[in-house]
Amino acid sequence: MSNLFEHSTIEVLIAAKLDGTITLAELLKHGNYGLGTFTGLDGEVIILDNDVYQVDQTGTVNHITDMDTTLPFASVHKPSENEQPLSLAKADFTLLNQTFAADKNLKNVFATIKLHGHFNAVKVRVAPKQEKPYPSLLAVTKNQPIFDTENVSGTIIGYYAPELFGNITAAGWHLHFLSDDHQFGGHLLSFVGSQLDGTFEIFDGIEQHFPINDDEFRNHENDLETLKAAIEESEGFQD
Ligand SMILES: [Zn+2]
Repeated sequence: MSNLFEHSTIEVLIAAKLDGTITLAELLKHGNYGLGTFTGLDGEVIILDNDVYQVDQTGTVNHITDMDTTLPFASVHKPSENEQPLSLAKADFTLLNQTFAADKNLKNVFATIKLHGHFNAVKVRVAPKQEKPYPSLLAVTKNQPIFDTENVSGTIIGYYAPELFGNITAAGWHLHFLSDDHQFGGHLLSFVGSQLDGTFEIFDGIEQHFPINDDEFRNHENDLETLKAAIEESEGFQD
């Protein structure tokens, strides 16, 4: 059995519930690879084999070792026997969204990819840290730092979610990037990669975890009408 573990729903970020509701210590019990963000939408989190990196709003990559650090939303997994090797001679979001998604028949499943190699071009955004009272994710998205670079070695990690689950997470690909030299990273908006090697895995299921002791989470109203468009605008990519 392989499960994707999701802590809280992306909807809480859209609704400006940005206080952390799980510690890294707890999160890492459920997976050693993944992504997320910290309290206050403080940067983009990339977890590679239990090492936790944060790209902050200045574009600086920080290695996070304080396991009491909290996250309002995160997705992690442990590689399982479902994992397959993956090599792509050339890749970008168009390939992942079209040829790759069709070849692997992803439309009704959750999946993960991890790809390492050379990137001719990478463009990322980094969520800037917010103070209370927190604005909505959409408002933050309009003013988020965007960084790009060329000719860099690095790793892409992230998840594919089917359209059906687009209310709790970002439907389609949600990918984060970290360069090998730890000088560049973030939430992936676009990329062109070549000679990428890594792994691909389709999950048997998801474990959706809720912050049940958080009053804000328990009491807030879901705005389902605007939710999907908001997720797309704030969590999407740019191809
Ligand atoms: Zn992201």
